[in-house]
Amino acid sequence: MNDFALTFPHRRFNPLRGDWVLVSPHRTQRPWQGEVSRTDAPPAIHYDPACYLCPGNTRAGGHQTPPYTSVYVFDNDYAALLPDSPAPPSAQIDPLLLAERERGICRVLCFHPDHSLTLPRMTLPEIERVVEEWIAQSRELGARPEVGYVQIFENRGAMMGSSNPHPHGQIWAIEHLPDEPAREAKQLAAYHASHHRCLLCDYISTELTHRQRIVCENDAFVALVPFWAVWPFETLLLSRDHIPSIDVFSPAHTRGLADILRQLTTRYDNLFSTSFPYTMGFHQQPADNAQHPEWHFHGHVYPPLLRSSSVRKFMVGFEMLGMPQRDITPESAAERLAALPATHYLESGPARG
Ligand SMILES: [Zn+2]
Ligand SMILES: [Zn+2]
Ligand SMILES: [Zn+2]
Repeated sequence: MNDFALTFPHRRFNPLRGDWVLVSPHRTQRPWQGEVSRTDAPPAIHYDPACYLCPGNTRAGGHQTPPYTSVYVFDNDYAALLPDSPAPPSAQIDPLLLAERERGICRVLCFHPDHSLTLPRMTLPEIERVVEEWIAQSRELGARPEVGYVQIFENRGAMMGSSNPHPHGQIWAIEHLPDEPAREAKQLAAYHASHHRCLLCDYISTELTHRQRIVCENDAFVALVPFWAVWPFETLLLSRDHIPSIDVFSPAHTRGLADILRQLTTRYDNLFSTSFPYTMGFHQQPADNAQHPEWHFHGHVYPPLLRSSSVRKFMVGFEMLGMPQRDITPESAAERLAALPATHYLESGPARG
């Protein structure tokens, strides 16, 4: 990065979404009078009798969570989508009042029976089991005729609105391609049509050449702060191989994704010595049985924290009405994350047994 980009306000283009982010590096000098920092203690209990995701407990409507020992998947008791939603009445009352049928299935995936754990505190084989379940769910749900897209995600921490600290994620299988992957699909297709190459294959080779924004890597995946990152410590997980979706993963990809998630989330926790909140999920080709040479499997991690375990970035003001803006540069965020220890701050003592 040249001095200009590290000193003066400028905007950066996000080729994956086709929009811009305002970068204001000089603002990191301004005085801070916002929230006060505080360090969160990690949850101490391994089993919570009041947690509906802990093994053997009762969920809403009398459903029972079985005494599972690895991962456990169930249809969300409060699903946002239903597999058999009817179509709205055909007579459209106004072209500006458009509604369409949206069918789908919402599932919850418990990552581990232990209530106190998070991805970075699980063992590599335990995280591999989670990835294997993501693959199995993607295959099963993607094969259903009413499903057009499978969205895998995890919402972690009260700051991100996660209602339960038990380690879990969600899988939503939905009829129409949702807006975020639809926006990327358009950009990926346009790039592929004009360059006859994959946008993300080209991007990963650019990043591996410059090596200014890489946080960690292994044989299968690279985690980096994208040039166009909006959130202070946002990262992009890119598979080195050009693969369109998780359902075609090889065992090496499975291991690689588990390992990169462990490496990255450990660094996140170490940044502010806290269980780092985030929304994380994967983008992949639509489940429409068509060929998508333009699609390249990847993950996004959007953490809200800015300068401590409790001081977060807000998307308000100009960001709601204009465009996203950031102060610390993606290069300095990547440098800070990459410099952190690869061992979790809670694991400096004897290993979990
Ligand atoms: Zn629990
Ligand atoms: Zn590619
Ligand atoms: Zn994406």
